[in-house]
Amino acid sequence: MTTTYKTPNNPGIDKMGKTYIVEHLDEELGQWSELEYITIARETGNFCLSSIPATLALPQVLKDTPGFVAETRGVEEVYGQDPAKKARVCLLDPAAKQELSPEDGELFDVFLFGGILGDDPPRDRTSELRKKGFTGRRLGPKQMTTDTAVRVTRIVAEQKIPLDDIPYLDFPELKFNEHESTEMPFRYVKGDDGKPIMPEGMVDLIRKDSDKAIDDLF
Ligand code: SAM
Repeated sequence: MTTTYKTPNNPGIDKMGKTYIVEHLDEELGQWSELEYITIARETGNFCLSSIPATLALPQVLKDTPGFVAETRGVEEVYGQDPAKKARVCLLDPAAKQELSPEDGELFDVFLFGGILGDDPPRDRTSELRKKGFTGRRLGPKQMTTDTAVRVTRIVAEQKIPLDDIPYLDFPELKFNEHESTEMPFRYVKGDDGKPIMPEGMVDLIRKDSDKAIDDLF
């Protein structure tokens, strides 16, 4: 079934029933992940956070976001048992041999991501999903935040724009004031305003975290 929907970043994109899954792999779900997941649900309209421990209380604002589905089962349990279903799942994997291409939009219905905060240097925790045997695709050589990885996957698989034609910003510097700035160690999609596309509230959160880090030094 084909449904047309609009998002602030991609007006009029044609959505072909793709499902975006983030498998929860961290101990907790912090504010950074919360903002990313709200954004993914809003942009995709079809976002599942899988493998959520029954003991983990999800933030109400995330649960209330249209397009968000919480799943206590892991992807392996949901898709791994039936080979035909499993073959339609693509793991976005920074270590995959093949890059994601527009043709992959025909091969896969489900795009799977590691629910891991970005780390510098990357610790390859996506390997936990790789071991489960899903087909992998890379989104270029640089580490992206999870919401960026989902955004780029949608642009390639749904809008059919090749990976190399997407405008990126690598390691952007966020300037808070004359004296304070921080460099983000990730690749982002460049927005129409020339700035990196980030979840609503993320710049404030990063500023608060960096203020806290400075306070902790004293
Ligand atoms: N440092 C992490 C690791 O240990 O693997 C990467 C975490 S990244 C913030 C979260 C997820 O986004 C990854 O598990 C992967 O699914 C996706 N991702 C990020 N950059 C990617 C890239 N260049 N190629 C493919 N997938 C990527």
